[in-house]
Amino acid sequence: MAFYDPDNFTDPLVISYEKEHRILQPIWDLIKNGHEDALRSPLFPPILAVVFYFTATIPFTFMDLLGSKVPYLRQLLLHQNRPAITWPMVKSVYANAFWNHILLVIPMALVQLIWVPPTPLPLVAPTLWQFVWHQIAFFFLFDFEYWAWHTIHHKVRFLYRWCHSVHHQYHSPFALVTQYLHPWEIFCVGLGISVTPWFFQPHCMTYWSWFILSTYVSIEVHCGYDFPWAAHNWCPFYGGAPKHDLHHLRPLTNFQPWLNTIDRLLGWSLTYEELAEMKTKRHNEIGIYEKEAIADLKVWN
Ligand SMILES: [Zn+2]
Ligand SMILES: [Zn+2]
Repeated sequence: MAFYDPDNFTDPLVISYEKEHRILQPIWDLIKNGHEDALRSPLFPPILAVVFYFTATIPFTFMDLLGSKVPYLRQLLLHQNRPAITWPMVKSVYANAFWNHILLVIPMALVQLIWVPPTPLPLVAPTLWQFVWHQIAFFFLFDFEYWAWHTIHHKVRFLYRWCHSVHHQYHSPFALVTQYLHPWEIFCVGLGISVTPWFFQPHCMTYWSWFILSTYVSIEVHCGYDFPWAAHNWCPFYGGAPKHDLHHLRPLTNFQPWLNTIDRLLGWSLTYEELAEMKTKRHNEIGIYEKEAIADLKVWN
């Protein structure tokens, strides 16, 4: 019975058997029961993503603003000489987020009300195996998709200058820089996060959890901190915060957003250690645009 598609149970006996034997059932019941109307709405996934992003970045922003005065927080920084994060910087990223949401995110969410049908809510939770392998599949696929988009938007100069250079106004990122983006980039990233899982027909609990996972990982790679529990400290193929911090410092290296496998394979990977070991000329030049390519572009740090 365990291999039945969880969305297609019709026999009440099978449903009650599956509900009793699925590890995630209590969590799914807690999420679903009593909240059905809100969860069925096509507005729920975008609202979840937006609310989670702004809530999750608040503690990081406090750390960023207090960081220079608290020795414990300073020692967690990826590099001790990170320029201080100032109020004008925080205001600039909130202003960018405000306009992106007013002009793009909210209208796109409202359009979904017209053409996206209400989400069906299965009675049965996904199995733990379905939940985990779907998250892993979405993670690897989106990492690849963004790597391809990202590489093109660095290598094609007009795309960099027109669009992706907005994100690179910060040479030293912090959590709120995660969504400091040109509208075209926020549209493409939103599309990738939303559409990638469609090929797997996941359970809606898996789909919503993916929004939270992808948003959190994107914040974590931008945060500028080296947390002892972060995956880059124990997973050899995860690039994480150090690799993406270096990408902002040396934008023609480390194009993968989360992993480090393709960049290593193609020779586009760079580590702090490799950078420190280079002789002066190569150290000063690696991964940096020539002056004409970035002439007149605004930068904050
Ligand atoms: Zn970035
Ligand atoms: Zn970039």
